[in-house]
Amino acid sequence: MPLLELTDLDQRIWDEELADFVPEQVFDAHTHIYRWAFHTDPEKENGPYRRFVKPGFEDVTFDVLDECDRVLMPGRHVERLSFPFPFSNGCDFEGSNKFIAAQMQSHANSAGLMLVHPEMTEEHVEETIRSTGLIGLKPYRVFSSTGDAVHCRITDFLPEHQINVADRHGLLIMMHLSRPDGIGDAQNLDDLERLTQQYPSAKWILAHCARSYSSWPIERGGDRLRDMPNTWFDTSSVCESDAMTALLRTVGVERVMYGSDDVPVGILRGKYVSFGYAWAYLSEENHSLNLTHCDPRMTFTRYEQLRAMKRAADAVGLNSDDIRAMFHDNVRRLIVQARGGR
Ligand SMILES: [Zn+2]
Repeated sequence: MPLLELTDLDQRIWDEELADFVPEQVFDAHTHIYRWAFHTDPEKENGPYRRFVKPGFEDVTFDVLDECDRVLMPGRHVERLSFPFPFSNGCDFEGSNKFIAAQMQSHANSAGLMLVHPEMTEEHVEETIRSTGLIGLKPYRVFSSTGDAVHCRITDFLPEHQINVADRHGLLIMMHLSRPDGIGDAQNLDDLERLTQQYPSAKWILAHCARSYSSWPIERGGDRLRDMPNTWFDTSSVCESDAMTALLRTVGVERVMYGSDDVPVGILRGKYVSFGYAWAYLSEENHSLNLTHCDPRMTFTRYEQLRAMKRAADAVGLNSDDIRAMFHDNVRRLIVQARGGR
């Protein structure tokens, strides 16, 4: 049985809206490679990740990602920047990092990042980077030393001795910001400004449009964001064209990079929607909307994201070179830089 199948609704969205937008060469800046076994919580079968990690996606290899892309973006050649899945409540960091390093061995143009915990020493991080060939760090807010994944500051989950390693070797940092307002938060902006100046060779990728699932965080942080050196942005899992438009207008297409958030987010059916100062994942299983007046089915998060990217590209007037840069060249260049910096 295939891992993923298109419905007639998916097929129509791909054919009518997306097939002429997605270029032939894709470099996906945000993908997860992991094994369910690396989630070491004994209660995991009843835990929150089980809703996302569905049968067939318990061992996500580079080949599984290829298979997903073959179905969702037929005919495209896809390279990837990949990193482990940051399971909270029990995560085998060493296993995760060994696994991703082994997976990337046979994909020389793709690259992997090391999952880091704030308690890891500078020596340990440096030695792991050296021995695995990984080209950057993937911290995550659920590992915050404060125990508060919602309000923690960047250095609570990525201490400066680890940023120092990234700076010394010109490594990437895949940063999913914390705090309710994301990049619209003054504390995050203050911290990023200081850290990007103090560690000028570290290369920050601010995930999910700098965690702006709608436009207001970017609009609020825009002027300061624009001037921050060494920051790039991936579009993974953001489904609102306003957010993408605001990002493209603020920082320019040369710093914006396509990412899918596969697996699991991009391949799930649903959409991130925003309202007020909130955003949430809407899926076929978690709503009670009355949809009797229309086709009630949902498509892949990835397709909703690509629709948003296409509308934003139209809104700001991107040409085909810009679109190719956003889907491939920008992250490719960044990875070459990260490799050369060592
Ligand atoms: Zn992700």
